[in-house]
Amino acid sequence: MAREARRAPGQGALPLTEDGPPVEVRRSGRRRKTVSAFWEGSTAVVAIPASFTRAQEAHWVERMVERLQQDTARRRGAHSDEALMERAAALSQQYFGGRTEPASIRWVTNQRRRWGSCTPSQRTIRLSHELQGMPEWVVDYVIVHELAHLLVSGHGPQFWELVGAYPRLAEAKAFLAGVAFAGSGRGDAGDGGAGDGGGWDLIDDDEDA
Ligand SMILES: [Zn+2]
Repeated sequence: MAREARRAPGQGALPLTEDGPPVEVRRSGRRRKTVSAFWEGSTAVVAIPASFTRAQEAHWVERMVERLQQDTARRRGAHSDEALMERAAALSQQYFGGRTEPASIRWVTNQRRRWGSCTPSQRTIRLSHELQGMPEWVVDYVIVHELAHLLVSGHGPQFWELVGAYPRLAEAKAFLAGVAFAGSGRGDAGDGGAGDGGGWDLIDDDEDA
C-alpha cells in the first residue's frame, strides 16, 4: 500500500511519526475544551477546538492517536484465540468443575450458519467471528454450550441440564434468536431447511455426534 501523505486538509502538515496511521485533524468552533478521536476507515480523525494553538494540536494529536491505537490493539487482543482459550478454561472451571477443557478453541470466519461448533472426538471448538462485538455474556453462553458438548452430545435433557448452570442462558438464547431473525430478514442465503427461513441456525450441531 502506498504511503499516504499525512496531512489534515487545509491544516498543513502534521508532525507525525513515520509508522502511524493517516491522520485528519478537525477543528471545530463549537468545541471549547474537549478533544476526541475516532477511526474513519483506516484514518485516525482527531477533533479539537478551533482555538487550539499549533503546539496544542501537535500535543493532542500525538496523544490521541496513540490512545486510539492502543485501544484497537487491546480489542484485537481480546479477540485472539489465546484469549478465547483462557476464557473457555475459566468457564469450564466455573460451570463444569474443569471437566470440559477443550484441546483447542478458535475463531473462524467460514462458519456461516452456526455460532459455534464442536468436534468432541478431537475436543476442538470453533466460534463464528460474527459473535465478536456481541455482549460478553452472549459469547460466554456459546462457549458454555460448546463446552457442554464435550460431555454430552446432542440437545437432550441431560445436555440442557448441564448448560442450565449458566445463569443467563434464556437471555442469551433470546439474544441470538433475535440476531438470527434480523439476519434472515436481510435475505441471507441459506437452504431454509426445516422452515427456519435461512440465516442463522440458533447454534451448532456437533460435527461428529
Ligand atoms: Zn449444541
